Amino acid sequence: MIPASGSYRLANAHVHRSLTPELAASFDAEGFALAELTVAGGKIVSIVAHAKPNAEANAIDLAGRIVLPCFVDCHTHIDKGHIWPRKPNPDGTFMGALNATGADRAARWSAEDVARRMDFSLRSAYAHGTKAVRTHLDSVPPQEEISWPVFEAMRKKWRGRIDLQAACLLGIEGVRDKTWFERLAKRVAAAKGVLGVVTYMVPDLEELLDKVFAEAIKHGLDLDFHADETDDVAAISLKKIAEASLWNGFEGNILVGHCCSLARQPDLEVLDTLDKVAKARLAVVSLPMCNLYLQDRRNNGTTPRWRGVTLLHEMKARGIKVAVASDNTRDPFYAYGDLDMLEVYRMATRILHFDHPVGDWPRAVAATPAEVMRLEDAGMLAVGGSADFIVFKGRSWTELLSRPESDRIVVREGRAIERQLPDYSELDELMVG
Ligand SMILES: [Zn+2]
Repeated sequence: MIPASGSYRLANAHVHRSLTPELAASFDAEGFALAELTVAGGKIVSIVAHAKPNAEANAIDLAGRIVLPCFVDCHTHIDKGHIWPRKPNPDGTFMGALNATGADRAARWSAEDVARRMDFSLRSAYAHGTKAVRTHLDSVPPQEEISWPVFEAMRKKWRGRIDLQAACLLGIEGVRDKTWFERLAKRVAAAKGVLGVVTYMVPDLEELLDKVFAEAIKHGLDLDFHADETDDVAAISLKKIAEASLWNGFEGNILVGHCCSLARQPDLEVLDTLDKVAKARLAVVSLPMCNLYLQDRRNNGTTPRWRGVTLLHEMKARGIKVAVASDNTRDPFYAYGDLDMLEVYRMATRILHFDHPVGDWPRAVAATPAEVMRLEDAGMLAVGGSADFIVFKGRSWTELLSRPESDRIVVREGRAIERQLPDYSELDELMVG
C-alpha cells in the first residue's frame, strides 16, 4: 500500500487532534479529522484537512484508517527482558521479582546474554512501531561495568531506527557508598545517560536524594526515579523527590515512575504531594500492565481489588506531564509483554480510563514522553518532521483498541518497514541450565 520510494499522498487518513497540533480542521467527538498527508524525501511535507472522499489520481485512499506518529516508550527494562523461562517469579509478588531477578543477574548477565536479549526487545519494539526507547540498566556492582558498554554498542547499532536512552538503576541505599556512586554518575555521564535510582523510605532518604541531585547537577544529567511501587501509604518518596528538586534548584528533566502508593493515601496528603510535584515540574510515568500484575497480589485465595496505578487524571488536571510505558517484558516483574505501545495504550485506556473523553491522552504514548526524553523529531505528526508513523486498520477508538492490530503498517522515513517479530526460539539457548 505504501510506495517503496519517492513521494506520495495519503488521503482520508484519520489523524488525532492531540498528535497533529498544526492541523486546522474540524475534529469529531473522538478527536479525529480526515486529513491528507504528503510525504516526500522521507519527510511529511504537508498535512491538510480533507473531509471528502478523495477522487484525485495518485493519492492512496486510507478510507478513514487511523494514522498515529510512531510511539515513544520512556520506561522499560530491556536488560531484564525475556529471562522468564529460566527465572520465573515464584509467587507473582514484588519481592519475588526482586529476588529472582537479582539471582539471575548475578549468575547469568554476561555481556553476550544482555546484548542478545536487548536486541530481541528492540526488534519487537521496532516492529510494533516504536521509534524511541528509554531503558533502565541494573547498575549494582559489577553489573554496571557489563551493561553500560553493551548499551552503548546497542545504541549505535540501532541508531536511525530506535533512539535508545539509558538510566542507571540501583536502590537508593547504594548512594551511601559515595565514592562508588560518584564513579557511577561519571560513567553515566560519559555514556550521555540519565541518572536513576529506586527510592525507598529509608531514614536517610533526604540526605541520599541530595547526593543524587548534586551528582546530576555536577554532570548536567536528567533524572529518572522509580518511586513508591507499593500499596504502603507511608511510602511518600514522590513528595520527597519534589521537595529535593525544589530545594536543590534542579533545572533538568525529572521523570518519576510508578507512584502507586499515592492512590492509597488520604486526599489531603495527595493534594500536598501533587502541589509539590507540579511546582517542581516533575513528569510522571505510569506502568499500568506491570502495576496490575504486581500490586494487590494476595496469594491467600482472595481477589485483587485495586488496579495498582497512580493518579494520572489528577496529575494531568494540574498540568503535570504524564505518560504511560511498557516497563518489564517477560521477566519476574511482569510475565508478559512485547514492548508494543499500542497494547500499553489499550490497557491504559481500560485500567486508567483514558476515555469518555479520550481528550489528549494519546499524547501519553508519544508527544509527552518525547518531551521528557528531549527528542526533537518524535511523538507528533508535524510538517517538516520525519515521515515516521503507523497506519492502522481501525478507523475509530473502538476499532483501534479492540483488535491487536498485528497487521498495522509501520512507516519510517516514508517507507513501510518489514515488520518481522523475532522468534522466541532464538533465545532458547540462553534459557538452559
Ligand atoms: Zn521500572
